Amino acid sequence: MQIELPKDLPNELLYGRAGFLWACSFLNKNIGRETISLTQIRAVVAEVIKSGRKMGKGRCPLMYEWHGKRYWGAAHGLAGIMHVLMDMELKADEVEDVKATLHYIIRNRFPSGNYPSSEGSESDRLVHWCHGAPGVALTLTKAAKVFSNDEYLQAAVEAAEVIWNRGLLKRVGICHGVSGNSYVFLSLYRLTGKVGYLYKAKAFACFLHARAQALISEGVMHGGDRPYSLFEGIGGMAYLFFDMIDPMETRFPAYEL
Ligand SMILES: [Zn+2]
Repeated sequence: MQIELPKDLPNELLYGRAGFLWACSFLNKNIGRETISLTQIRAVVAEVIKSGRKMGKGRCPLMYEWHGKRYWGAAHGLAGIMHVLMDMELKADEVEDVKATLHYIIRNRFPSGNYPSSEGSESDRLVHWCHGAPGVALTLTKAAKVFSNDEYLQAAVEAAEVIWNRGLLKRVGICHGVSGNSYVFLSLYRLTGKVGYLYKAKAFACFLHARAQALISEGVMHGGDRPYSLFEGIGGMAYLFFDMIDPMETRFPAYEL
């Protein structure tokens, strides 16, 4: 069966080609290699690279647009697309473009160490998986592992410091809440084995366990636009609690394979 994707499909993770590719990797990992053929996957990867190069001309090797903005974060932008591309079988020149795109992101972060939500944005405000340091940190942690590169690891460590220092978010979920930010520490813990990261994840998780329900009912914390969902609500928090039982096996759901 040949999979035909619409020509005008965006490339980002939540609605676009990167999300499709992630789902292919998930099926091939959990059901069996070539459940989705590598030829089919390759055709979509080639499209992602081609459109990234077209838009990236000049400044950054790969760049993408979604709803008129050149996003950097995991949900709609570079961090999410690079994260998925690192799981693909890439040609040597494509690998170089992914690496150079990651360097571009690191070079152009805010002086605070946080990352803009989109190209040219000067608002150093969001520290979420979807927009800001947490999504980028997960991508850099993965890059440190895939490319055995200390520069990416160092940048991931610095992004994790930003997340810790900016503190607790007002929401509980994984997309833009405390649970999602906890996964950055867990990812660094898995990679480095340093217990300091586990303690930080545990601190966030214990806060949620002890206080979230009460603070939501008092209106101090926000219950989320979709209060029970995996990405925005207590579904994501419950997922984190399950993961904390065996921290070395944790994965940001629907993102880390
Ligand atoms: Zn979000």
